[in-house]
Amino acid sequence: MDDKSKILIVDDERLNLNILSDLLRPDYKVVLAKNGAQAMDRINHEPPPDLILLDVLMPDIDGYEVMRRIKESEQTKNIPVIFITALNSKQDEARGLERGAVDYIRKPFHPPIVKARIKNHLTIARQRKLLEGLANLDGLTEMPNRRSFEMALEKEWRRCQRAGEVLSLVMLDVDCFKQYNDNYGHTSGDDVLRKVARVLLKEAKRPADIAARYGGEEFVIMLPETNAAGGRYISERIRSMIEALDIPHEHSSVNRVLTTSLGGVTLLPSSASDPQDLTVAADSMLYEAKHRGRNQVCWTDLTL
Ligand code: GH3
Ligand code: MG
Ligand code: MG
Repeated sequence: MDDKSKILIVDDERLNLNILSDLLRPDYKVVLAKNGAQAMDRINHEPPPDLILLDVLMPDIDGYEVMRRIKESEQTKNIPVIFITALNSKQDEARGLERGAVDYIRKPFHPPIVKARIKNHLTIARQRKLLEGLANLDGLTEMPNRRSFEMALEKEWRRCQRAGEVLSLVMLDVDCFKQYNDNYGHTSGDDVLRKVARVLLKEAKRPADIAARYGGEEFVIMLPETNAAGGRYISERIRSMIEALDIPHEHSSVNRVLTTSLGGVTLLPSSASDPQDLTVAADSMLYEAKHRGRNQVCWTDLTL
């Protein structure tokens, strides 16, 4: 696999494109664009560039406008942009930075400085991405955490609302987990949580599905465009798969092996409700499953 960073150079002067691409080609995958329209085309092409060198003065769409469009899109707004321009007034420099450029390089440029700045900004961007990834992952199970689940739910809620699609949510809680920890130790308890997480990740398998650790021994699964029958089916599968892991739990009041209780809800997102209603309803179904004796699925279909 080629893991060189991809750099897009945008300049309307052929000579500048040549100088910069000769300079960067030994170390990077270089892509060129000779105007704003071509730049947008390259930026939206998968995979997007890791960094953009952007000329300010160009006919048609200028650098500031390209910048505005990059910042407008969720997919591209974090790509570092360095303005490269012959302009040398302080105002232009400020204007570029205000619009979100990470740096500003003036023509004529000194090649080692250009190279060093690019390298630094690529490092910062890589670290930012890494931190963002870590901030969204649960350390124990390495699955999405509550924060990333809540962000995904907000987004999916709005999407289903626009599309008139139903949304299902499942909450799962390990039964008698306190006794498990007390009798087998906290480390064994951690192992159980990792095993449960693996089952959820395997079952929430459609691209928009998301399984996350909600906190402690509670997990959530969001199932977009899944009706109550589908949600119940998946939940029952998860319940029985975890039971079939056959993890001994001698001190459970439910069974001789470790079990889970699940509560689920299906609704049609609308402006009259919000994502929190979904979590609250799933939670009360989970409570119901516990109340009825654990190791079971309770569901409410709010589309009816
Ligand atoms: P119920 O069947 O009603 O769900 O009872 P329970 O014992 O599972 O529920 P309770 O809320 O009383 O206890 C939850 C336990 O989960 C207590 C807590 O120590 C344990 N727990 C929470 N997070 C972790 C963790 O990261 N690792 C381990 N090993 N245990 C955890
Ligand atoms: Mg609990
Ligand atoms: Mg529990």
